[in-house]
Amino acid sequence: MANTYPNYINGEWRTPLATFENRNPANTDEVVGLFAKGSFADMREACEAAQNALPAWSAMPAPARGALLFKVAEILESRFNQLGEEMTREEGKTLPEAKGEVRRAINIFRYFAGEGSRMPGMLVPSERDRVHMFAIRKPVGVVGLITPWNFPIAIPAWKMAPALICGNTVVLKPASASPLSSWRIVEACHEAGIPKGVVNYVAGPGGELGKAMLEAPELRAISFTGSCAVGNWLYTEASKRRLRIQMEMGGKNPTIVLADADFHSAVENVVNGAFFSTGQKCTATSRAIVEDSIYDEFLSALVERTKRLKVGNGLEPGVDIGPAIDEAQLETDLKYIEIGRQEAGEPLCGGYRLTGEGYEKGYFIAPTIFADVTEQMTIAQEEIFGPILAVMRARDFDDAMRIANNIPFGLSASLQTTNISRVFEYVQRMEAGLLTVNLPSAGVEYQLPFGGSKESSFGPKEQGPAALEFYSDYKTVYLKY
Ligand code: NAP
Repeated sequence: MANTYPNYINGEWRTPLATFENRNPANTDEVVGLFAKGSFADMREACEAAQNALPAWSAMPAPARGALLFKVAEILESRFNQLGEEMTREEGKTLPEAKGEVRRAINIFRYFAGEGSRMPGMLVPSERDRVHMFAIRKPVGVVGLITPWNFPIAIPAWKMAPALICGNTVVLKPASASPLSSWRIVEACHEAGIPKGVVNYVAGPGGELGKAMLEAPELRAISFTGSCAVGNWLYTEASKRRLRIQMEMGGKNPTIVLADADFHSAVENVVNGAFFSTGQKCTATSRAIVEDSIYDEFLSALVERTKRLKVGNGLEPGVDIGPAIDEAQLETDLKYIEIGRQEAGEPLCGGYRLTGEGYEKGYFIAPTIFADVTEQMTIAQEEIFGPILAVMRARDFDDAMRIANNIPFGLSASLQTTNISRVFEYVQRMEAGLLTVNLPSAGVEYQLPFGGSKESSFGPKEQGPAALEFYSDYKTVYLKY
């Protein structure tokens, strides 16, 4: 019998009136948990509770808030293995990837706990005699956090921790496909003794809860990560009330492979960026743009390496790639594979749902490579969010840069080269917020700003010191003595 996970409002676990199932995408017979199906009224109550908790929480010295966040990190760490396994069960990514993400969430809490002792403001000399001028940070107020399913603990952590350290109170609405990992953070907040109403958790249908959040008079800001469609709708609605809003959305990220690259690492980096986590990372590589002179050789090495990837249940050792998150994502992947077939011909590997022993109960798909993809094709323009890679031919570096930038998105990008001048050209000219060199396009750390450009993102960056910009306001003081 699966556990039931209630919503958390005003420091209380609320007995659910209705629930929804969280199923394991690698084994749909397994119900990972039953989650409270929060209502419009629950969301409004959570926002009210957050408002009531705001004065005391924001008045607490920031280092004291930091001490509580350090405790949250400690509690999460004490359950490290459990959290990793639960994440693999609810999201499907492999156990090492899931554990890596749990480690990251713990690090994020510690990092922002430390910010409580810094909380950098500004102090500059005045032009006037005996005037002391400075700016301090103040919280924004009640902040709504809406998160996607693909990083079910890291993304909630990288929104909650900076929001809380700045003195805001929060209402978290997790993705319905993977609500358990963030429920564990909320549980840790409760056990750490974070005062009632400071952290609230309302799971349930995005449409209804999103609307309730947008209409809550207490709300001051929304931080959203998810699809462009939902993000753009939220932006329109939030602007009517002039809510502060931050949005991290889709991508169509390129990896450029130049002829002078370290061939073997370039193959590994493209395979890692395109297929690990089933291609379900916003920073995944979905276009490999390869210089003409090595195109054929690179393509065959890529296909050969991809065919050796092991797809299966992420809890099993040796598995490289888990399932798609749910049936809808699987259908999306298969739909784009059909589009790819019509546009670019038969894929060089993959191109189908995996069936047979070990695959009967999950949403498994074979890693798929389309070759000779050109810029205007749908599979070169639209985000798929699955293990499907478009390989494109470029005449030279300039042509590759042009192709790489010829999309509406600008989240992440990668360059494989040993030419330092090309590296700096790329850093200057690539239209994306996250750039890597000789690494996969995915795989970032928490100590620097995170976020994209163009259609991928809007508002201040997340993570690193930059995260404080969204979750705080300056108050500027001029003082004559
Ligand atoms: P999604 O469908 O947009 O859902 C994201 C969140 O929004 C979920 O919690 C969802 O709730 C909620 N939601 C749905 N409709 C809503 C509405 N009308 N108002 C308010 N909230 C609503 O995205 P997803 O499928 O979970 O995630 C995949 C997408 O996220 C991809 O496009 C990926 O690129 C993007 N992503 C971006 C980043 C980044 O940092 N740029 C990181 C990770 C993922 P329900 O689950 O209940 O529908």
